[in-house]
Amino acid sequence: MSLDGARERRVRTGGIELCVAELGDPAQPTVVLVHGYPDSKEVWSEVASRLAERFHVVLYDVRGHGASTAPRPLRGGFTLEKLTDDFLAVVDAVSPDRPVHLVGHDWGSVQSWEFVTVARTEGRIASFTSMSGPSLDHFGHWIKQRVRRPTPRRVGQLLGQGAKSWYVYLLHTPALPELAWRGPLGKRWPGILRRIERVPPGDYPTPSLPTDAAHGAWLYRDNVRSRLSRPRPDAYAHVPVQLITPLGDAFLSERLYDDLARWAPELVRRTLPAKHWIPRTRPDQVAAWITEFVHTNEDGVPVRDTVATGRYAERFGGQLVLVTGAGSGIGRAIAFAFAEAGARVVAVDRDAEGAVRTAEMSRLIGSPDAWAETVDVSDEQAMEKLAEKVAGEYGVVDVLVNNAGIGLSGSFFDTTPEDWKRVLDANLWGVIHGCRLFGRQMAERGQGGHIVNTASAAAYQPSKALPAYSTSKAAVLMLSECLRAELAGQGIGVSAICPGFVNTNITSTAHFAGVDATEENRRRKRAARLYGLRNYPPEKVADAILRAVVRNQAVVPVTPEARGARLMARFAPRALRAVARMEPPL
Ligand code: NAD
Repeated sequence: MSLDGARERRVRTGGIELCVAELGDPAQPTVVLVHGYPDSKEVWSEVASRLAERFHVVLYDVRGHGASTAPRPLRGGFTLEKLTDDFLAVVDAVSPDRPVHLVGHDWGSVQSWEFVTVARTEGRIASFTSMSGPSLDHFGHWIKQRVRRPTPRRVGQLLGQGAKSWYVYLLHTPALPELAWRGPLGKRWPGILRRIERVPPGDYPTPSLPTDAAHGAWLYRDNVRSRLSRPRPDAYAHVPVQLITPLGDAFLSERLYDDLARWAPELVRRTLPAKHWIPRTRPDQVAAWITEFVHTNEDGVPVRDTVATGRYAERFGGQLVLVTGAGSGIGRAIAFAFAEAGARVVAVDRDAEGAVRTAEMSRLIGSPDAWAETVDVSDEQAMEKLAEKVAGEYGVVDVLVNNAGIGLSGSFFDTTPEDWKRVLDANLWGVIHGCRLFGRQMAERGQGGHIVNTASAAAYQPSKALPAYSTSKAAVLMLSECLRAELAGQGIGVSAICPGFVNTNITSTAHFAGVDATEENRRRKRAARLYGLRNYPPEKVADAILRAVVRNQAVVPVTPEARGARLMARFAPRALRAVARMEPPL
């Protein structure tokens, strides 16, 4: 996607001309996107085209960048005061009667912090979404506080951010940055962005990059030293702020925002596992969060009333999560945990009633949207239809949890080929179909994601009574590891969860091979009793799963016995083999 079709106009202010582009219906709320360094407005093209479906989207080249003219002389021409003049001139031109929703990335966010904290813009801005660009005033206070009271943690934070700011010192040197950008760095930059930042090729960066970068060095020189040494004491935001923090940002530490609630009383925090250039690498998520935030503020709803409060709300709010086997036990608990974090949930189960109930409850708990889908995960065609429907109606799944599974107990010779087929179909093929269909959509979208597969401690703990079940789960564990290796380069994590004994319905539906119906019933009851006595709640497994996604963990044994067995598998395999000869409860 590009800015083709955008309406361009030129806005004159303070002796320069700004190039302003507009998309979408001007009758809709206006969203103004401000680019960073060393960028031009094209950095927003992917986000802008998504937002233009609902909003009047305005982008402009900051003075000295892209098709805007540069101030003469350059020195002193890029102060935050002058950048505020520019912003107001753009707003006067594109939305004179209605406050705009401001969005900034990198230096676009740094200057936007100035816009939302000075008195002369009051009433002109309705909300602010900030990405990877702190207020220089807040940053100045942050440094001062840490220098004044230097605990070891605070000194660590200072040194950490100091190391990440190496390029800021370089940009203060005279002439060198200009020479580098107009020379080898300018040529190599697109390749660096692709290789290190994983920015996909497209209409960005533009050929104006060397000039943009050379001019933009004055953004730093005109503002950084003066503001950091004398930060404004009254830099309070007069609008609601949404802070989006990419956790893999090479230039900014998350800790910078620790004190932000003091400066921005109406604050929503969002995090995502990505690097610095999220307008290019995560346009879907960025556009979705902006859309939600703009709508909330347009509706006049206090921000805190609309945002989920769960522990992981920053990370999963608004994301699309699909859980199989969500009609009961662990799957239902997983759906609820994501719902609590504000995710949109697709609850899939072959048990229609169970799935519907989970979706209903998810909405009550905090999911902005939840749907139930009745599908047997082992049915290839049904899964294909599901994948098509989900992509068409709800979007590409951000987190996929292949959790549906069934229990089967019985010796190898008691286990019939039909038993094998049933357990492999549900436990292994269900996971394969899920990964193949939804994983491919994630990979093709190219904006990351996460796959969780529910394996079991039985994946690494052999048992004479669970040959088929354990085989299915060992296969799920290995599949997860292989897929994790394959998808690592695409920002898609894969985790295998190995719960242990968890108190769910699985005991009362498990099949016991080689015994008659009465005996099977008796064994089910016994297993249910034992699992009940163990009483490990599925909610704890769900919590481990959300944590595994946040930390991108590969294999997660959950209960103490699952963790113990994992250790034994590594360090005392003979002892584990001795345990394998004992009769397990399932
Ligand atoms: P559960 O029986 O409470 O829930 C499983 C859900 O999956 C049910 O709603 C069921 O209808 C659904 N399901 C089963 N086969 C399906 C299919 N082919 N298509 C669609 N839906 C299907 O059991 P649970 O304990 O919550 O199990 C969830 C997962 O956790 C399973 O993969 C299980 O093997 C695994 N696990 C459970 C335990 C435990 O102790 N409970 C331990 C280790 C692993």
